[in-house]
Amino acid sequence: MFLSTHALAGIIISQHFTNVPVALGLGVLSHYILDMIPHGDERLGAWVKEKFIRRFALTFLTDLGFLALFVYTVHVTGDWPLPNVALAAIVGAVLPDLIWAVYDAYRVLLIKHFPRATKIIQDVTRLESFFNHHERLHRWFHAYIEKRLTFKVGLAVQVILAGGLLYLSVHP
Ligand SMILES: [Zn+2]
Repeated sequence: MFLSTHALAGIIISQHFTNVPVALGLGVLSHYILDMIPHGDERLGAWVKEKFIRRFALTFLTDLGFLALFVYTVHVTGDWPLPNVALAAIVGAVLPDLIWAVYDAYRVLLIKHFPRATKIIQDVTRLESFFNHHERLHRWFHAYIEKRLTFKVGLAVQVILAGGLLYLSVHP
């Protein structure tokens, strides 16, 4: 799911709570709940990796563009939440995907090229088992509703979802 959609959920949370740790926790929770909605982009990662730099830039900038649009809309139409609470909720809302991205980089770059360093890191921090546990949890939510959508249908679902969230964010 687009990170901007997740971030938008974070903005809504921060409009209703003023406590930073609560906003962060609810942000994380909102990520898993949104991921349960079938959204058809399971193969987007593989597609991006085929031509990584170009396609990553494309998807990243699209996402960033939508985030800017959402932030701008909430700014001019709704009441903008406390900045530190908003930041905490947004970070929480995108955190599971960030962990996943770091894990991906860890596997692709570190394990492949620096297996010794990886072993030391694993022995000292049990980082890998944390990643593994998180991956399983993340996947569980993604697969909870077993409905695979095509990319186009998934995109339509995401547009409707983001539209609904945007409506909620400007009518807090
Ligand atoms: Zn996710």
